[in-house]
Amino acid sequence: MQRNRIYILGSLIDKVNTKQALERINDFIQEATPHHIITANAEIIFHGRQDKKLSRTLNKAHLVTADGAGVVWATRYLNDPVTERVTGIDLLHAICNQAQQKNWKLYFLGAAPGVAGKAVLKVLELYPNCHIVGYENGFFSQEEESKVIANINSIKPDILFVAMGAPKQEFWIREHLQELNVPVCIGVGGSFDVLAGNAQRAPEWMQKKNLEWLFRLYKEPKRWRRMLSLPRFVLAVVGQKVKGNPKGDN
Ligand code: UDP
Repeated sequence: MQRNRIYILGSLIDKVNTKQALERINDFIQEATPHHIITANAEIIFHGRQDKKLSRTLNKAHLVTADGAGVVWATRYLNDPVTERVTGIDLLHAICNQAQQKNWKLYFLGAAPGVAGKAVLKVLELYPNCHIVGYENGFFSQEEESKVIANINSIKPDILFVAMGAPKQEFWIREHLQELNVPVCIGVGGSFDVLAGNAQRAPEWMQKKNLEWLFRLYKEPKRWRRMLSLPRFVLAVVGQKVKGNPKGDN
């Protein structure tokens, strides 16, 4: 299938909205071969400039969505706009909702012990007809890892949510994609913490005003260093346009 994508700082982002992302997911499940989905925020794309392993991982993924206001802004600024952001948690909700009709089997992997179970309960409260086939925390040793993968293999979910934070989850999925043999593997960052009620999402009005980053900074001031990548991302995108470099790589 021909993908409609835009280069931002050397990484290719698919121009899809949530509805189109769900259609791709449906196709991936029909194909029954492993696929990797990344919801790419400004921080990840910015780091992809320096980190070739990260940009390779992004560019090898089967679907990369614009996660956050910064990336949506960049597509507009580069005159090739996406219509909406598709964040990890929004996609998770959309998938769980759709899974009820399609009978997709879902597996939740990630977050601290106890959190994935609480997240699953919340999902079942919101989407009671969801078919959840398993969950596991995201802190395991090398030896335990093969058991985690063998368990997922035996259960054969259609969709695997991996909540280990970016870019750890992206590298983990890429490394184990073929072994996992799950049609759709998707990194969802801190989503299980939000579902479990351990972390809060910005109020709707802040999300609408593109101020989710400010709320996150207020809640987790330790993230300030990581968040510096947002203004750096903006400057680099301006540089990409000014230099007339459509790929925006270094
Ligand atoms: N985490 C995990 N395994 C690890 C490291 C982190 O499961 O080895 C989990 C952590 O408990 C948290 C999530 O990954 O639930 C990271 O959340 P964060 O909000 O930092 O991710 P982001 O949304 O920024 O990618």
